[in-house]
Amino acid sequence: MKPCSFERSKARIHAAAGRMPGGVSSHFRFGVSPTPLVFRKAEGVHLHDLDGNRLIDYYMGLGPMILGHTPADVIDAARRQLDQGLLYGGQSELEFEAARLVCELVPCAERVRFASSGSEAVQLALRLARAATGRGRVLKFEGHYHGWLDSVLWSVAPPPAAMGPEDHPASCPGSAGQDPGAGRDVEVLSWNRPGQVVDRIARGDVAAVIMEAAMFNSGAILPLPGYLEAVREACTRTGTILVFDEVITGFRVAPGGAQERLGVVPDLAVFAKAIANGFPVAAVAGRGDVMDRLATGGVVHGGTYNAQPVAMAATVATLKRLSAPQVHEAMEARGRRLMAGFEAAFRDAGMTATVTGFPQIFHVGLGLEKPPVNYRDTLAIDRARYVRLTTALLERGVRALERGAWFLSTEHDDQVIDTTIEAMRDAVAAVAREA
Ligand code: PLP
Repeated sequence: MKPCSFERSKARIHAAAGRMPGGVSSHFRFGVSPTPLVFRKAEGVHLHDLDGNRLIDYYMGLGPMILGHTPADVIDAARRQLDQGLLYGGQSELEFEAARLVCELVPCAERVRFASSGSEAVQLALRLARAATGRGRVLKFEGHYHGWLDSVLWSVAPPPAAMGPEDHPASCPGSAGQDPGAGRDVEVLSWNRPGQVVDRIARGDVAAVIMEAAMFNSGAILPLPGYLEAVREACTRTGTILVFDEVITGFRVAPGGAQERLGVVPDLAVFAKAIANGFPVAAVAGRGDVMDRLATGGVVHGGTYNAQPVAMAATVATLKRLSAPQVHEAMEARGRRLMAGFEAAFRDAGMTATVTGFPQIFHVGLGLEKPPVNYRDTLAIDRARYVRLTTALLERGVRALERGAWFLSTEHDDQVIDTTIEAMRDAVAAVAREA
């Protein structure tokens, strides 16, 4: 079969760059190999690009499209709402129903507040934590991503030369132009080291500990047994607010997210992505006494588009579907098969790699001998070679993230999984031949 080519996308991006920096609208769509792609449409698990390629998609919108690109129930719900008006500047039954579903599904959710992006919802969670505790300090972890804003874009991908010793990691800005003052109260720790975080929390001056409870931004790293429990216990003892950033894991790794799957309940949790299957919806959910500071405690949170009715209609339809356990069970089985197929492909080619995470979102770490335990372990990943692998996959009609993550949806059926495994075997063989 002729390999896919991407010349039209390349030319269009080049031309668009005259009006839009880099020809894209997000940093994370820029600088990918062989080019950022330009799409005409999507359906199910497939993307159709400008060059006429029909690609099996594992970006899935970078996580949101858990029911595939064109779920009829979500689209019908949104379409029906389009005829009822676009933005009321007030409440609707739809957001009350969406709130009911979030509170039913998510263990920590006694209350919920909707927003429009994960980045801003994180800001609300931290503001609530500071208001509830009267403290300023926030602990975050190397390699964990909580959005692009100045207050949290610290040590997400720190360069080895700047990251300092593991016992006392340095706080490295993630962007040129970032306000140094925004990091004054943010302290960076190494994740999965219970002693380090428990000792730090014990000093009693921390407002919030924020983490991806299972980390999917720099590799897929699961918490070591007992780690989350130890942090939970230290937070409870000191009145520190534990925040799980479930923007990736929420509604994806289980109906109630990582907190359900891992059995540890935070005080607050942040959601986005899969909550609305492609519509711009985010949420902060958690303890009633903390959340109610939005009503009675002087905590301000606004947003013209919060709980926009069309997006809320999509949220309700998405969460209703994700409420049925069979949905996750089916993804679980297919994801496991995909992970095992990849492991066999690497093994058969004599290529060292780990395949870690959950079946609904996992990560391939090329060059790793064993599953990573924290960010520093992921520095051994052969990223340049993995980019050659994702480029080879793209030429074979499979689109996967260059950073190693694989997002599944309910629409990745057995046939799609088989085709993907075959493409992976072929791409691995091609990359192995290069060496
Ligand atoms: N938190 C995590 C764990 C994320 O993965 C992301 C985005 O990828 C965000 C926060 C930011 O969400 P958004 O891109 O909706 O602002």
